[in-house]
Amino acid sequence: MQLNLLEVIHTPADSLDHQDSLIEAERIKRLVAIHGSPLLILDCNAVRRQYRALQQALPGVQLHYALKPLPHADVVTTLMEEGACFDLATNGEVDLVASLGVAPTNTIHTHPIKRDSDIRHALGFGCNTLVFDNQDELLKFVPYRDQVKLLLRVSFRSLATKVDLSKKFGCRPEDALSLLAQAAELGICVTGLSFHVGSQALDPSKHVEAIRACGEIIRQAAELGLPSLNTVDIGGGFPVDYVEPVLPIDTFCAPIRAALATLPAGTRLLAEPGRFIAAPAMTAVATVMGKAQREGKWWYYLDDGVYGSYSGILFDHTHYPIDSLNFFGERQPCVLAGPTCDSIDVIEENILLPELHNGDLIIGRMMGAYTSATATEFNFFRKASIVVINQTHNQDCAVVPLSA
Ligand SMILES: *Cc1c(COP(=O)(O)O)cnc(C)c1O
Repeated sequence: MQLNLLEVIHTPADSLDHQDSLIEAERIKRLVAIHGSPLLILDCNAVRRQYRALQQALPGVQLHYALKPLPHADVVTTLMEEGACFDLATNGEVDLVASLGVAPTNTIHTHPIKRDSDIRHALGFGCNTLVFDNQDELLKFVPYRDQVKLLLRVSFRSLATKVDLSKKFGCRPEDALSLLAQAAELGICVTGLSFHVGSQALDPSKHVEAIRACGEIIRQAAELGLPSLNTVDIGGGFPVDYVEPVLPIDTFCAPIRAALATLPAGTRLLAEPGRFIAAPAMTAVATVMGKAQREGKWWYYLDDGVYGSYSGILFDHTHYPIDSLNFFGERQPCVLAGPTCDSIDVIEENILLPELHNGDLIIGRMMGAYTSATATEFNFFRKASIVVINQTHNQDCAVVPLSA
């Protein structure tokens, strides 16, 4: 039986039959034997599968992968081959895509707050679409007004997302028209609107509300005789299954498609997915380095933790599906801790696992987004190395059929 490593790794453990679990365990052990622990296994087929699923759910929307959750060269190269565009926010991200040969016209730069040197760096690469959300930022573009096409980022607060990105950035919808008028007076070209309702949105209502509000601003701007706005960028926020399942992506996007259809005909549509593409693409492997009984519970100390790949527990407010690679034995509540001397370095306080031994492996799934990207080397514990699998195109990664 020829099984695709990636498919096995990324199938939820409880849906694997025993045979598949054993094959998966052997393959993971082999990778750790070669590459060491802690290890992150980056599967390019998962990147392809996620990109295709989102593109199928949002036809006509140009997907720009936001590098922030997983700024890895193999993710960029894989997506480039899929025809994706890229959403950049920093000079480092500009340099990464430039070094990989991404066409500048396939990029946008969406950090709403930039230094003059950041603007020059993006323009030097050839990325001309940038974002502003206030007057001070708009004035920074006066010297470059012949080169830039700006998007105005509008804020739509969302309390239903884990990470509310409209608190820190974006103008109030009621201030949009006056900012657009100021841009017109300064001779700076604004081609459209953008927003980000927040990451890991649990339902699409904020996207829908924001799209409708953007349509309203576009119509009002036209009535005032302002230069026409022909682009709407709906940002990121597309959710993935962690411990709790979320809506399938096609279901999540159905109301978004309907809202997009109400925008003026010919509007250019963009999105900036990060998590949706990156999260399922990495599986974390850590090793038990020690164990102790404390107050009637087993504590297991791993070689990766909250200061490392599991940093998303703090920064991203995310808990990951975690299991042992030892499938035998009765499960009891235990604690999984990281390797550092800090007491905050606890991954799970109450997880059901069979009794573990030093050297046993612990698997974290859905660990591609906001994990290694925010890891530190506190206490001199080195970050997990990343091993890449399925770099070359694989027919087996066909998109799981979506409901019509
Ligand atoms: C972080 C970020 C994204 C990606 O958001 P996800 O929720 O991970 O899809 C997209 N655009 C901007 C401007 C961001 O800051």
